[in-house]
Amino acid sequence: MILNSFDLTGKVALITGCNTGLGQGIAIGLAQAGCDIIGVNRSQPLETMSKVTQTGRRFLNLNADLGNIDAIPSLLAAAVEAFGRIDILVNNAGIIRREDALNFSEQDWDEVMDVNIKTLFFMAQAVAKQFISQGCGGKIINIASMLSFQGGIRVPSYTASKSAVLGVTRLLANEWAQYQINVNAIAPGYMATNNTQQLRTDEDRSQQILERIPAGRWGTPDDLMGPIVFLASAASDYVNGYTLAVDGGWLAR
Ligand code: NAP
Repeated sequence: MILNSFDLTGKVALITGCNTGLGQGIAIGLAQAGCDIIGVNRSQPLETMSKVTQTGRRFLNLNADLGNIDAIPSLLAAAVEAFGRIDILVNNAGIIRREDALNFSEQDWDEVMDVNIKTLFFMAQAVAKQFISQGCGGKIINIASMLSFQGGIRVPSYTASKSAVLGVTRLLANEWAQYQINVNAIAPGYMATNNTQQLRTDEDRSQQILERIPAGRWGTPDDLMGPIVFLASAASDYVNGYTLAVDGGWLAR
């Protein structure tokens, strides 16, 4: 039956940056679909832990700063030791820096690129090796952005990193489909989280953005639950290398 192919009971999902925002919604959605969750966070994700365990699934938090890739080998070892395997990776952790391109600093360039694309790539590499050693494929879902498709304003390193997420998602799908690994991305539209707090408090920008969203509202972490379960499940086994916009119609305008 088709609905069974969406069932994730007993799967293990590793999610970066799930203490808040979209990562928290992703963790809860995957747990509701049956996954045990391994979170990778800088801080204790107490609220997420509580919401995941309320679904009856397990939650393990691993502490790491994803501003560099040093922790990746020990993260993988700890995850596999605790839950025995990994079936799904969601590369969600990401940061943004806002400044005119003329004044943009090297630090704001490097910090964003390090978290948003360098760590994303090396997490995917490490987890893909684990998937291959397990011998039954796996699912990688990268969190992209509208700025994977568009230029944006005053966010040069963010646009560079998220455009790269779209390209690298395609590349990894090309290389790893032979191992039954699906690599796809979700490009959220304008979602109400910490990441967009500055935009939402700027009345003019907030109004301009809202007027362009056909759905007439900012998105929420809950809006990602259906798409993430789809891309994490057997229902999407023949979807590979694709970046799915979840944007209330923003790109259709
Ligand atoms: P958020 O509330 O700021 O969450 C970002 C997450 O990434 C937090 O859990 C944060 O942890 C974590 N993170 C950042 N730097 C980290 C580091 N060095 N080490 C470990 N964790 C780190 O923003 P969000 O909107 O939910 O963003 C989630 C993803 O969606 C990001 O990739 C973002 O670019 C993308 N996105 C968001 C929107 C939107 O409209 N909100 C739109 C498109 C794409 P801390 O709390 O410890 O900082």
